[in-house]
Amino acid sequence: MAILTSGATIGILGGGQLGRMLAVAASRLGFHVHIYEPGANPPAADVAHALTTASYEDEDALRAFAAAVDVITYEFENVPTAALDLLEAIRPIRPNRRALATSQDRIAEKDFLTGLGLTVAPYAEASNISAAIAAVGTPAILKTTRFGYDGKGQARIRTPEEAAAAHASMNGAPTVLEGFVNFSHEVSVIAARGLDGSVAVYDPGENVHVDGILSTTTVPARLTPTQRSDAVLIAARILNALDYVGVMGVELFVTADGLLVNEIAPRVHNSGHWTQNGCAVDQFEQHIRAVSGWPLGDGGRHSDVVMENLIGDDILRVPDIATERGAALHLYGKAEARPGRKMGHVNRVSQGAGGSRAG
Ligand code: AMP
Repeated sequence: MAILTSGATIGILGGGQLGRMLAVAASRLGFHVHIYEPGANPPAADVAHALTTASYEDEDALRAFAAAVDVITYEFENVPTAALDLLEAIRPIRPNRRALATSQDRIAEKDFLTGLGLTVAPYAEASNISAAIAAVGTPAILKTTRFGYDGKGQARIRTPEEAAAAHASMNGAPTVLEGFVNFSHEVSVIAARGLDGSVAVYDPGENVHVDGILSTTTVPARLTPTQRSDAVLIAARILNALDYVGVMGVELFVTADGLLVNEIAPRVHNSGHWTQNGCAVDQFEQHIRAVSGWPLGDGGRHSDVVMENLIGDDILRVPDIATERGAALHLYGKAEARPGRKMGHVNRVSQGAGGSRAG
């Protein structure tokens, strides 16, 4: 497919805040965006050219959506396989199906990563929890293999005696048992790969989670020069192996023995929001460039940034944050502030030691 030019339409599966910020970036490059979202009032619809409100089982709606766009991407990785089959027969989907299938299932993901020679936490398929505990040991974390996010679908197992109850709490869902990693901190790398195979990697960010939800991302992350280049190389390796096109988030644990890959997300990522105010070309524009066949942009970091998520009632602090120097607000236009709901974020920008040209 040729490079998309102004006036072309990018179809996005999912209408949340990631879709909203992708749509804004696409419109800056002269594109139209068509959002496909089953739920009512999606945040992305406010800034999109067209909206389809239909389920992922509605074949007529899927067909009409695909016919109306030039390329299909997604902000949400749990799109049903049957919907993807139907869409892919009509228009290209970027990133590709293999990236989605790999990241949708924690076991497929870990098998893929270990196959690349990368290190992950010890793991075992856990339909027989006693056998899994025997293989992995304790402490460990039991996770559903699919549909987990923000720490949901997880149970800590401190001793073998806790295993049966943890397993029962998963209500029969397929699970994987992971050995507990004694990490000092968590970082993530946001990386992009273009249609021509070129790769651009953002400087790693350091993540802090509260109650399983990302709270802050800080750049620069605390990493040695060797760890920093390892992080970048790990991300590039994953993208090349998947023949990936678009932006990916790669979450890493920093340990005394090196970096372990926790998980990959085949989409723009919350821990990459700092790029909106720390780089000339942010993760959203980079993703739109990649899926449109454009050259990747300059992802070098020009400033230090602390990104803070505004969750639930944090939204009440907006009037104060709005008066802060160096604070760039990004709000998602969600009407109702429920506990745990991501309402927006703030990037606090400062001039540090001069940035880093990781891109
Ligand atoms: P995940 O949904 O896999 O990203 O896990 C959510 C959070 O739980 C991670 O960001 C870690 O803080 C923690 N966590 C997940 N897996 C492990 C592990 N194997 N060892 C230690 N902590 C973990």
